[in-house]
Order: sequence, then C-alpha cells, then structure tokens
Amino acid sequence: MIQKRHKTPTVFIDHVPLGSSHPIVIQSMTNTKTTDVTKTVGQIKELANSGSELVRITINNDAAMKAVVPIIKRLRAGKYQIPIIGDFHYNGHILLKKYPQSAALLSKYRINPGNVGNKKTADKNFTQIIQIAIKHKKPVRIGVNFGSLDQKLLTDLMRQNARMKNPKTDKQIIYKAMVESALSSAKAAEKIGLPKNKIILSVKMSDVQDMIAVYQKLAKQCNYVLHLGLTEAGGGTKGIVASTVSLGILLQKGIGGTIRISLTPQKNANRAQEVTTCKLLLQSMGLRYFSPQVISCPGCGRTSSDYFEKLAQATEQYIQKQLPAWKKKYQGFEQLKIAVMGCVVNGPGESKYANIGISLPGDQEKPDAPIYVNGQIYKTLKGKNIKTQFFKILENYIRKTYK
Ligand code: SF4
Repeated sequence: MIQKRHKTPTVFIDHVPLGSSHPIVIQSMTNTKTTDVTKTVGQIKELANSGSELVRITINNDAAMKAVVPIIKRLRAGKYQIPIIGDFHYNGHILLKKYPQSAALLSKYRINPGNVGNKKTADKNFTQIIQIAIKHKKPVRIGVNFGSLDQKLLTDLMRQNARMKNPKTDKQIIYKAMVESALSSAKAAEKIGLPKNKIILSVKMSDVQDMIAVYQKLAKQCNYVLHLGLTEAGGGTKGIVASTVSLGILLQKGIGGTIRISLTPQKNANRAQEVTTCKLLLQSMGLRYFSPQVISCPGCGRTSSDYFEKLAQATEQYIQKQLPAWKKKYQGFEQLKIAVMGCVVNGPGESKYANIGISLPGDQEKPDAPIYVNGQIYKTLKGKNIKTQFFKILENYIRKTYK
C-alpha cells in the first residue's frame, strides 16, 4: 500500500501546485545550448507535449541569461504556459542581479549550495540570490548533489565523527552532510525572508541505496516539498531501471512532490523519453493516470502465433492515436485497463480483472477469443477481423462509460 504523503506546504511554480495533497509533478531538463533559442524552444515544446509539467534550462553565462527572454516570449506566444526553471551554478548571484527581466520571467531558480561561492563568498552570494527570489516572488530549489557537496561541511563532520567514542560509518556521515547542507541552506533562506512555501529541496546521489536512504532521512527531518531524482543514473534500460526503482520506493513511502528521471542521451533516443518514463512510473504505481493501460502477457510455449503480440501492440498504437480526441470528449478514461492475453491459462482471469479483456486462443485451443467486459463474458470473437471487432467494442465501452 502506498503510504500517506509526506505533509508539506503547497509551493506554486506559477500555476503548478506542488506538495502533499497535489499530484506528483513531472519535470525534465533541456540539453540544448540555451543560447540556441530555436532549438531550446523546440525541445521545451517537445518535452511539454510529452507531458512534462516543468522544464529546467541551463543558465551558465550572460548569453544564456539573455536568451531567457526570447525563449519564454516565444513559448508564451505559442500558447505554451509551461513554467521554465533556471539552473544556476557559480554565477547565479551575478546573472540574476544583472538581468532582472530574465530573473522576473523565470518561474523558479535552482541553486546548489555547494556551488554558490567559495568559503568567503558563499554566504554573501546565497543571500543575494535569495533576496532576488524574494523580490520577484520566485520559489527556489536548493538542490544538494553528492558530486558537488560542500566539502568544508563534509570534512568538519568527518573530523567530529573521528573524535567520537563510537564513530559512524563514512556513508552515514555523507548522508548527514547531504541532509545538513540542504536543511541549513533552507533555514538560512527562511531567515533571509524566503517563506517555506517558496522552498523545495533535493538531495541527489547516484547510488540507488544511498539516494533512497538520504531522501528518507531528509523527509523525516523536515516538511519542505521534495524534488526526487537519481543523479547520473546512466542511459537506456540501466538508467530507467535504477531511476524507477529508487523513485518508486520513495513514492511508495509518500515522499516526493516532483520527480525527474534524468537519462544519459542514447543514440536516436528522444529527450522526451525521460518524461514518458516518469508517466509510466506514476501510472504503474497508480499515482496518476495518463492513458488507458494495456495489460499483456509475455507469451510462452503455449502461444499459438504472434497474433496476440501484434494485437497488444496494435491496441497500444490505437490508444495513442485516439488519445487527443478522447481527451476532448471523455472524463476519466485514462484509468481504463485493457487485457490482451495469449491463452486460457491466465487470459480469462486477467481479462475479468480488467475493464475489457481479450484472451486469444493458445496452442491446441479452440480458435475462439472470448471478450470480457467488467468481469463478465461479453462475446466470443472468431475469424479474421478480431482486431477490428475488438477496437469497436473498446470504443463503444469508452463512449458509454466516460461520457
Ligand atoms: S497467458 Fe498463456 S500464453 Fe500468456 S504467458 Fe501465460 S500461459 Fe503463456
């Protein structure tokens, strides 16, 4: 069972609410040069069209900060209201001060306490960023990352630990430093005047167990909205598995207000893959619904042909094609479950459990395909046009059920 959500205030990123009672929000990040306005706008649109609800862009120099204005203007002119987040490291205090128009247009600032300055300048720079956020009424994500953890803090904690009678492990001290870095920065921001409902925290690590442990520790000690992410997750199946398992475990425990699955780009893979992976994760956990779900078996030696695989794929394609029209006409259809099964062993059982199910004939079985609707046998299809008949039944079901 999914545990009760970690109680937090609501943080608004423009029109998008984050926090305990609100849906888990999906975010993503561009990998274009921000100065290439056309490419950046194109990629933001692509991410938004795939379902990203917040998009972060790199702002690493004057030119990138200047580009914020045409990027956001073009998006709004194209009716894209998606909040754009500026990702700042090292020079955020300078850029935010020097370019107030860009600072005002961005919907949120993301800073990393390990990268705001050196020993002498960090506090001053941090204060400057927070004051600008207060002036423009912007939320700030204080994103601690193991790769750029405040080394002074870590060294001090390691030294203190070494003097203890029963010292903790290095790992426990690293977790402590990650959490302390996030919490002390959040407290400092509040002291400067940034309200709690403008603060989001993250403590990203690249190892699955570390990341789960450190987020749990953080969630226990505060009620800020948390952004979840496994950093440096890698790409392809490896990145997807590592990210979904770590985020899934935390979400199951009620932790997290926003998520990002960051994947190393693979050849020919679309950037929006990180968004579709987030959607699949949330939907498979029953946390949010984006489109009807097809439940299909893997097939085995009992499968008589590849027809059921083709039907499962065709059903997925049919759903994706109909989705824009269904969204305009029907309410709640995203929760529909459709089973496409390969034989009678598990076919009828899964079909009965789904809203609509079809069980295709397995090896040496009668060439019938029973259809179940709401757990009851509805019809048995035969012959060559099973797919067409099945889609017709599906379309009728949606029309009648979700009007
Ligand atoms: S439902 Fe039938 S075909 Fe599919 S995996 Fe199970 S036994 Fe094999």
